[in-house]
Amino acid sequence: MPETFRALLVTRDEDKKQSVAVAEMTEDDLMEGDVTVAVEATTVNYKDGLAITGMAPVVRRFPLVPGIDFAGTVVKSSHVDWREGDQVILNGWGVGETHHGAYAGLARVKGDWLVKLPPQITPFEAMAIGTAGYTAMLCVMALERHGIAPERGPVIVTGAAGGVGSIAIAILSRLGFHVVASTGRTSEEDYLRDLGAAEVIARDELSGPARPLGRERWAGGVDAVGSHTLANVLSMTSYGGAVAACGLAGGMDLPASVAPFILRGVSLLGIDSVMAPLSLRREAWGRLARDLDRAKLASLSTTIGFGGIVDAAHAIVEGRIRGRVVVDMA
Ligand code: NDP
Repeated sequence: MPETFRALLVTRDEDKKQSVAVAEMTEDDLMEGDVTVAVEATTVNYKDGLAITGMAPVVRRFPLVPGIDFAGTVVKSSHVDWREGDQVILNGWGVGETHHGAYAGLARVKGDWLVKLPPQITPFEAMAIGTAGYTAMLCVMALERHGIAPERGPVIVTGAAGGVGSIAIAILSRLGFHVVASTGRTSEEDYLRDLGAAEVIARDELSGPARPLGRERWAGGVDAVGSHTLANVLSMTSYGGAVAACGLAGGMDLPASVAPFILRGVSLLGIDSVMAPLSLRREAWGRLARDLDRAKLASLSTTIGFGGIVDAAHAIVEGRIRGRVVVDMA
C-alpha cells in the first residue's frame, strides 16, 4: 500500500466559490469504511462534470475527492464479503458527492456498496461502461419488466452520442430492437449506426414544445435528456408503451401533458442508479457482461490519464464527449 497517493480535491472558499486541485493524500485522510481499494480505473460521467465544474451542487461536503465510480482491487478489508486481491466495482451511494470518491490512488468505502467485477470484463471495460452504462442497463431492464420487446416496435434513445445513449443503443440493438437514435450531432451518424442504430434523427425534432399527443412512433425509449425532449418522446410513444427516464442533460423540467398516460396508457419509468439495491446492481452488471458487445464497447470509449480528468469534466458538460471516457489511474 502506498504511503501517499495523489488525488483530485474539490475545495470551497469563504465566498462558497469552488475550486479543484491535485493534492497528495495519505490513508489517514480517507473517510470511514471497511474496505480499502486501489483504484485502477475510473471514468468521467456527466455528474462528475457537474461536480468538478461546480455547475450543479453535486459535491455536498468540502474538501472532497470527486468521482462517482471506480474499478480496482481490494487492498484491505474487515468486511465479511471482501478479501485482499478481490476485484470490485463501485457506483454511486454518494461516493464523489458526500464521501471521498474515485479520483485518488486509494478509496475507502463500505463493503456493502461494492459489486464483484464480473470475470468476463476487465476493470477498464467496467469503467468504459461506468455509471452511464450501468444506468443504460437499468433502463433496458425496466423496459423489459414492462413487457417492451423487439416485436412491440422501435425504441428511441435520446442523447444518443453521449455515454448513456451510446451504451443503450449497443445493448438494445444486440437484443434485437429497431433503435431510433436522437442526437444533436448528426455528424455522428456513422458512429451511431455502427453501434446499432437503425435510424438517426435530429435532436431538433424533439426539442420544441410537445403536443399532448403526437404520431405513435415508438413502443418505448431511454431518455437521458429530460425537459421538452422527454415530453415529446412521451407524446409519440405508442399505446401501452413505456419510457425509462434517467437524465437531465437538456433540463430538469418536464413540460408535458398527462394525455399519453391517460389516453394511451403510456408509462414513465424513473431510473435511479445511485441508491439502486444491490440485487438490481448485480443483475445489471451480469447482464452487461453478457449483453454488451465488447468490440462496440471499445469503439465507443477513449482512455485518458489522471491529468486529463478536469478537461474531460468541462468537455462533458459542454456536450463535447462522444461515448465514454475511461481514466487509467496507473
Ligand atoms: P453525456 O454528456 O455523455 O451525454 C448526454 C448527451 O445528451 C449528450 O452527449 C448529448 O447527446 C445530449 N445533450 C447534451 N446537452 C443537451 C441539450 N441541451 N439538449 C438536448 N440534448 C443534449 O452524459 P451521460 O450519458 O453520462 O449522462 C446522461 C444523463 O443521464 C445526464 O443528465 C446524467 O446526469 C444522467 N444520469 C443519470 C443517472 C441516474 O442514476 N438517473 C446515472 C447516470 C447518468 P447528443 O450529442 O447525441 O445530442
